[in-house]
Amino acid sequence: MPAPALKEQIARTDNTFERAAGAWVGKCLICNGRLSFDARTGFGANVEHIMPRAEGGGNDLLNLGLTHPHCNGEKGRNWDNRKKRSDAARYAALVQGFLDRRKARWRDAPITWRI
Ligand SMILES: [Zn+2]
Repeated sequence: MPAPALKEQIARTDNTFERAAGAWVGKCLICNGRLSFDARTGFGANVEHIMPRAEGGGNDLLNLGLTHPHCNGEKGRNWDNRKKRSDAARYAALVQGFLDRRKARWRDAPITWRI
């Protein structure tokens, strides 16, 4: 699946996101800050594997969130990296917190948007 289509699917199933003038606008799954990305190209947001693929996480929509590129990068570098991970329990709690947040924001797709 091309990246923009995947990002759109995530946005459609995240109740913080709305379609607005060529963009999707919602909240970053990691920092909760405002996040917007180009609806056509997907530029502006990254797809976050909440439970990383290396830890057994899949491409299920509930395991995927939209984030700022820098938030995604920081989690990848400082948390998902096993060599830097000093506290397994804290890491597990962090991942569970993001999974819970994704579930709390869930809305059923498909949703028809006026574009
Ligand atoms: Zn963020």
